[in-house]
Amino acid sequence: AERILMNVPLVEMDGDEMTRIIWKDIKDILLEPYIELKTEYYDLGLEKRDETDDKITVDAALATKKYGVAVKCATITPNAQRMTEYKLKHMWKSPNGTIRAILDGTVFRKPIIVSNIKPFVRTWEKPITIARHAYGDVYKGVEIKTSGKGRGELIYTSESGDVTKEIIHEFNGNGILQAMHNTDSSIESFARSCFGYALDVKEDLWFSTKDTISKKYDHRFKDIFEEIFDAEYASRFKEAGIEYFYTLIDDAVARVIRSEGGFIWACKNYDGDVMSDMVATAFGSLAMMTSVLVSPEGFFEYEAAHGTVTRHYYQHLEGKETSTNPVATLFAWTGALRKRGEMDSLTDLVDFCDRLDKATLDTIEDGIMTKDLAILAEGDKKVVTTKAFLVAIKERLEKAL
Ligand code: NAD
Repeated sequence: AERILMNVPLVEMDGDEMTRIIWKDIKDILLEPYIELKTEYYDLGLEKRDETDDKITVDAALATKKYGVAVKCATITPNAQRMTEYKLKHMWKSPNGTIRAILDGTVFRKPIIVSNIKPFVRTWEKPITIARHAYGDVYKGVEIKTSGKGRGELIYTSESGDVTKEIIHEFNGNGILQAMHNTDSSIESFARSCFGYALDVKEDLWFSTKDTISKKYDHRFKDIFEEIFDAEYASRFKEAGIEYFYTLIDDAVARVIRSEGGFIWACKNYDGDVMSDMVATAFGSLAMMTSVLVSPEGFFEYEAAHGTVTRHYYQHLEGKETSTNPVATLFAWTGALRKRGEMDSLTDLVDFCDRLDKATLDTIEDGIMTKDLAILAEGDKKVVTTKAFLVAIKERLEKAL
C-alpha cells in the first residue's frame, strides 16, 4: 500500500533514556510503514544539548513557531547527579521550561481513558483536562522570616517615583512574610491559550480563583478572562456550542468531583500544580496522560506527561526487555500528526491517527497491556513487553486499515 504523504514538516524533538528507545520503536513499528514522515528533527537528548550549549532547544522552539506543530519526547532535566553521569559543561535548564518561555504557552494535561481502568471517582466518564498557568504567584514569591517586633509593608514604586504602600502586619513576635506577583500580559496569554484550546477541542472551559478573598489579585485574573472572552471569543464559543464558566475554586472542586468530566479546567499556577496531580492519580496513571503546550498564537507542542522512566532504561542497558508504557508518547505523536493533518487538510493523515488511537485503546481493552496498567485494570489481562504491545497494536491497526 502507498504511504500517506505530508506537506509541511512536523517539528520532532527527540529525548532521553527509555522514552528515546520507545520513540524509535513507535516510529519503526507504527508510523513509518504507513506515513512518509516529514519531520524537522531536533535531538534534545542531553548529550546534544550539552554539545550545543543548549542552542538546540532554542532552535527547536523557534522551529515550532515557524511550522506551528511539534512533538516532543521526554527529556532529562539535569541535576547534580546528572552532571557527573553525563559529564556536563553546565546544569542546563529544563527544556520544557525553555520551550514554554519562547512559545509563551500554557500546558493542557489530558488523561487517556480505557473502559477496563475505572477512575477512582465513579461519576467521571470523560477526561478532565487541566490547564495550569505556568507563571508567577508563589513560584516567583519573595519571602522573609521575621524575628521579634516589627512591621511588614508592601511597597510599589512606579517608574516616575510614585509610591503605593500597604501595611501587611504589625508583628508582636516572630513571623513570616510573603509577596508575589503576576503580570497582565502573562494572564492575557494564559486566557487566550485556554479559550483557543477550548475552541480547538470543542469542550467547555471552566476557570476558578479565590476572588472573594483576594479582591485585587485573584479578581484581576477573573476580570482579564472575562474581558478577553467578551471581546474575542464569546461569539465563537456560541457557534461551537461550548461555554465559558467562571466559579470560585472551592465551588469548582465540588462540581468537578460530581461531574462526568469532558471539560477543561483552567487553574492558577498553584491550583494547577495540585489539581493536575489529583486528577492524574484519580484517572489512573501518569503513563496514560498526554500533555500539549498551546501558545496564545495557536502553536502546538505535544508530549507525554511523564518523564524518561530512568529505572526501566537501566534495565534496558542490562539487556532486559522492559514493559514500559508507550501510550502517552504514542498519543503525543498521533496528536501532533492529527493537528498537522487538520492544518494542511490531509484527511487521510487525520483518519490514520484516529484509527491508530483506537487500535491502541482496543489493545488495552482486549486485556493486552504493559505492567503498570495491569495493576490498575479490571478483567483478564496479559502483561507484555513494550515491543510486544506495539506489535499487538499494529495487528489491530492493520485490520482497521
Ligand atoms: P518518570 O515519569 O520518568 O517516572 C516516575 C514514576 O512513574 C516511575 O516509577 C516510573 O517507573 C513510572 N512511570 C512513568 N512513566 C511510565 C511509563 N511510561 N511506563 C511505566 N512506568 C512509568 O519521572 P522521574 O523518575 O521523576 O524522572 C525521570 C527523568 O525524567 C528525570 O531526569 C526528569 O528530569 C525527567 N522528566 C522529564 C519530563 C519531561 O520531559 N516532560 C517530565 C518529568 C520528568
